[in-house]
Amino acid sequence: MTVKRVAVAGSSGSIGVQTLEVIAAEPHNYVVSALAVGSSADIVIQQARLLRPDVVVVTDPVARAQVADALPGVVVSDSLADIVDVADVVINGVMGFAGLSVTLETLKRGKTLGLANKESLIAAGPVVQPLRSVPGAQLIPVDSEHCALHQCLRSSFDAGVELSRLVLTASGGPFRGRTRESLQNVTVQDALSHPTWKMGPKITIDSSTLMNKGLEVIEAHELYGTPYDNIDVVVHPQSVVHSMVEFTDGSTIAQLSMPDMRLPIGYALGYPARIAAPFGRIDWTSLSRLDFEPPDRDTFPCLNLAYHAGRIGGTAPAVLSAANEVVVEAFLAGHITWSRIADYVEKSLSRHSATIPSSIEDVLAADAEGRRLAHEELQK
Ligand code: MG
Repeated sequence: MTVKRVAVAGSSGSIGVQTLEVIAAEPHNYVVSALAVGSSADIVIQQARLLRPDVVVVTDPVARAQVADALPGVVVSDSLADIVDVADVVINGVMGFAGLSVTLETLKRGKTLGLANKESLIAAGPVVQPLRSVPGAQLIPVDSEHCALHQCLRSSFDAGVELSRLVLTASGGPFRGRTRESLQNVTVQDALSHPTWKMGPKITIDSSTLMNKGLEVIEAHELYGTPYDNIDVVVHPQSVVHSMVEFTDGSTIAQLSMPDMRLPIGYALGYPARIAAPFGRIDWTSLSRLDFEPPDRDTFPCLNLAYHAGRIGGTAPAVLSAANEVVVEAFLAGHITWSRIADYVEKSLSRHSATIPSSIEDVLAADAEGRRLAHEELQK
């Protein structure tokens, strides 16, 4: 195999750091050709000294000057697009809308994109979608559920005909099994203690409300074109079955591993081949059971809310996601209770008239409107 050149966008973040771990485990197959960060100068300087990439992108001007001083002889640029030209695979682990340009540039230039940036599909799906047909462009999801679906779908002869439904698994978060009433007075700390995955505060709260799963349903629809009626969610507290695909003949194919994001990252790096380093291997002597139950859609209304926004389509998912961000921030700041999160998001979404976004500007405008509506609702 020829050595693949990898660009890591968001190299100081969790996905970025784990991408470098996967590459370190496969030194003969991958080389880091570019690193990109926002303002984490110290981290990227350290990474660049070790890995010697051709290009380092730093979007924050003050941090960029610091990095340029520390790395004489390395091209230090301000444009995220610069990482794409020196790469065969781009891992997009940038958080927020800053990651959108990485997605668009990678697909436009016909390269392989390992996508961990949620905004690219949830908010900007209609803008990203046409670029997937650029010759050479391929989009491989770096999200455990969507990576699982990607693997399961490969077992089909013709998924367009044989697919019956996608089944996304959800850990259920810290409040699985609780009633609506018993969740009236939960604290921020309660909501932040996720049973199986270690993640940032925003996504951990989204797991506790099932909004994260709802957003992943939208992502699955965007990725695979599956109608919402054929996408289901099942709660599976062990987070070992990462998702499943059911085919017309009644067969269900599932993908299993211990929760470890380095597996989906390695899958995207190696695709269509599999990497040789194992991450998340299952020890069958200690894994004794796998449980499944339907999600409680009354206690966790954010799940239905996301289906609703997805079915509306156009700018609705962007508004849903933006409003949810503002409302979750208000919860984390102690301004509202956990049980009101869904109400505020629903009210914000209901005031939006969706249109079809045709440019990044349209997507950003929808995002801004979602935030404005949520702020207004929170102030009422
Ligand atoms: Mg996920």
